[in-house]
Amino acid sequence: MAIWNPWHGCRKLSPGCQNCYVYRRDSQFGKDSSVVSKTANFYLPIRKNRSGEYKLQNNGEVVYTCMTSDFFLEEADDWRAEAWEMIRKRPDLHFAIITKRIARFPVSLPDDWGDGYDNVTIICTCENQEQADIRLPVFLNLPIQHREIIEEPMLGEIHIEPYLSTGKIEQVTCGGESGEHARVCKFDWILQTRKQCVDSRVKFHFKQTGARFYKGDRLYSIDRKLQMVQAKKAGIDYAPSGQENFPDMERLFEKLSGSKFRSRFYLGKQEMDYIRKKGMDTVRQHAEDFVRKRLAPALIDNDGRQTPMRGHPVFLAQHATATCCRGCLFKWHGIPPGRALTLQEQEYIVCVIMEWIARQIHSENSLK
Ligand code: SF4
Repeated sequence: MAIWNPWHGCRKLSPGCQNCYVYRRDSQFGKDSSVVSKTANFYLPIRKNRSGEYKLQNNGEVVYTCMTSDFFLEEADDWRAEAWEMIRKRPDLHFAIITKRIARFPVSLPDDWGDGYDNVTIICTCENQEQADIRLPVFLNLPIQHREIIEEPMLGEIHIEPYLSTGKIEQVTCGGESGEHARVCKFDWILQTRKQCVDSRVKFHFKQTGARFYKGDRLYSIDRKLQMVQAKKAGIDYAPSGQENFPDMERLFEKLSGSKFRSRFYLGKQEMDYIRKKGMDTVRQHAEDFVRKRLAPALIDNDGRQTPMRGHPVFLAQHATATCCRGCLFKWHGIPPGRALTLQEQEYIVCVIMEWIARQIHSENSLK
């Protein structure tokens, strides 16, 4: 996991902050976490090595941003514009920003933000029902391309059905609290949130149990090292596109149409002529071939650059459907990088590409 901490330190805001891990860790070194200051890594996204290459390379990982503070903290208002500018300069990276201060999101927003940068996911934290009902209505009305929710440390059962049903949430993550004074997290709460995600076909991730985990009628004390392992063992993560051969295309295409970048791609006369000449079966074979050779391997040297911007209808379809590199496949389709694609995943990607091409042909025909 790539991390960029442009500033450090924070102020406690709501019940979830009670045993904040930043405070816990800093106290071990006698450091005052309430002092907010820029870090030596402030310029990390634009820092280059002697060969002129960015030090922070796109290797398919999301860049988790501001993990020892809150990106929208008042104390950082004067620094945020510069941080946004660095994010804007690196469209090849995808930045994930976790916040409890979603109401402060508009402060210092760049002039060209528009409907949101496509390379940014904002993750709104809701530790209990009260915070969910305060933060999520605000969150859903902000101009953001990619939204996720995190319920951590989960302090009770949380109902977010109305927010999930908007179709604007890409993923929900749940987890308990770690540390010596951790509060209890119940497995039933986690399962309740999972059910809501399944009902709304939203991706779900159980990240960690926390240190005090209640399952069945037993309270377990779980060592820090095992909290993520135990969550993984529960095997309850849910990904709509991973559990079914083919996802809900309407939902996917609706999401894609909300992206300015994705929706600017279309098939011109040259590509249409090519499809007419070769036929859809041949184009499909090309798509299968491109996916197998350029996307399926676990390690791809030029990942992020393997799909040309023109030259074949399939390339255009890949950019339009976010099936152009492993980073986009992860962000938009929940297919993780760093391992080979399964045959089922390859089939799914080809299906998405061909669906987009079919829709382009259909819309051209309907204009005639
Ligand atoms: S907002 Fe996050 S970083 Fe800040 S005090 Fe609360 S838990 Fe800690």
